[in-house]
Amino acid sequence: MVGERMSDTVGRFVGRGPDGREHVVRVEVRGRAQLVACETCGWRSNTPLAPRRVALRHLSGSHAVASAERERTPAFWFRTGLSALLVAAILLFAAVRGAGG
Ligand SMILES: [Zn+2]
Repeated sequence: MVGERMSDTVGRFVGRGPDGREHVVRVEVRGRAQLVACETCGWRSNTPLAPRRVALRHLSGSHAVASAERERTPAFWFRTGLSALLVAAILLFAAVRGAGG
């Protein structure tokens, strides 16, 4: 039912360790909380803010990853797109009212 839809993966941090192995840390949004989860070792952390800092700290601290790339997932663009559309609609509405009045 609703359980499976409670979380959206909105970002992934992908980096390579010194042995060339790829490590992926996912950022999931659950309601207002953000969960950072490592696919390599199963480590997870709840963070209200700055999931990027938490993810990068885990990658460098636990997997010796020097630098990680952020990937946006479809869920991220879906959320971002919806907010952008809403803002655009409000601005358009304000402009039309301003011109008409
Ligand atoms: Zn890990």
